[in-house]
Amino acid sequence: MSRFFSNKHAALVPYTPGEQPQDKEYIKLNTNESPFPPSAGVYDAVSRAAESVNLYSDPECKKLRAKMAEVFGLSDENIVMVNGSDEILNFAFMAFADENAPLAFPDITYGFYPVFARLNHIPYAEIPVKDDFTVDVNDYLGIHHTVVLANPNAPTGICLSLAEIEAIVRSNPDNVVIVDEAYVDFGGESAIGLIAKYDNLLVCGTFSKSRSMAGVRLGFGFGSKALIADINTIRYSTNPYNINSLTAAAGIAALEDNGYYMENCEVIIENREWTVAALRGLGFEVLPSKTNFVFAQSGKIDGLTLYRKLKERGILVRHFTLPRIADFNRITVGTIEQMQCLITTIKELTE
Ligand SMILES: *Cc1c(COP(=O)(O)O)cnc(C)c1O
Repeated sequence: MSRFFSNKHAALVPYTPGEQPQDKEYIKLNTNESPFPPSAGVYDAVSRAAESVNLYSDPECKKLRAKMAEVFGLSDENIVMVNGSDEILNFAFMAFADENAPLAFPDITYGFYPVFARLNHIPYAEIPVKDDFTVDVNDYLGIHHTVVLANPNAPTGICLSLAEIEAIVRSNPDNVVIVDEAYVDFGGESAIGLIAKYDNLLVCGTFSKSRSMAGVRLGFGFGSKALIADINTIRYSTNPYNINSLTAAAGIAALEDNGYYMENCEVIIENREWTVAALRGLGFEVLPSKTNFVFAQSGKIDGLTLYRKLKERGILVRHFTLPRIADFNRITVGTIEQMQCLITTIKELTE
């Protein structure tokens, strides 16, 4: 730290992204990327858009939002586009949370929530998930906090039902409830349909996981017209050109090929079920997943050792040091060949 770093950030502990090592080729099952390439239309759209990068991108993202509105069945005034859904989490915390509306989220969830809370000096309550790692809905009913829930949750993979999400939104009419649906396309139920009914619901999503574009950095938020206007106040006070013209073009093309991505999600779901059964066959405890990853612990080998041994053999998974989950690993679901290789390797390591 330099002697110039502001004291206001003294307590900041930055988020640790999953490793992206460049030393050799790994089977990369550590950051929940898609193993499938983007659709052909994305390549064409990006090269065409490259011709006009001398011009600023459209800060309103009009064409992309029109396409989003068509695909998701909303009006474009209910939609904001962001530079990865991480950005809308930060914007939403800035817009809707403070000491009078502190944050509440589970103790085991996406590691960025406490980081953005501290960055913005917002107090937060970390609410323990139950022993089976499920979120107890009762903990959030009428909580008088700004609620943020990943649904399905990460890194557990466990999903709340739409009725449970609605109960939380309905019981907190004077606070915003943020539902982070980064993994919803792998078997969860989206809360998008509730937006017309509740003015306190913000739903966030991303092109990073189900649409093979983690490197493109494209996310979105859905909410009432007034909530989206507030997010735009923050966005125009931070970076109005948050969506560059190549990203916007890639997003439009991806939505035109939406069927391709949704079929890929079906393949991932099949591969997930195969992996869950194979891991259970090797004696692992595997939490029920509605995502493109599984969260599992072996009874025979601790989480950190398994992570290290897999890495030595060229397979990357994600290990977290939080005490409650230190014996687990989060394993992204890739192609069936990748998963077969993972299982063969784990078998060798645990025999
Ligand atoms: C991956 C992830 C995100 C963010 O993804 P972006 O790449 O920033 O769009 C948000 N929330 C959860 C729970 C995630 O796992």
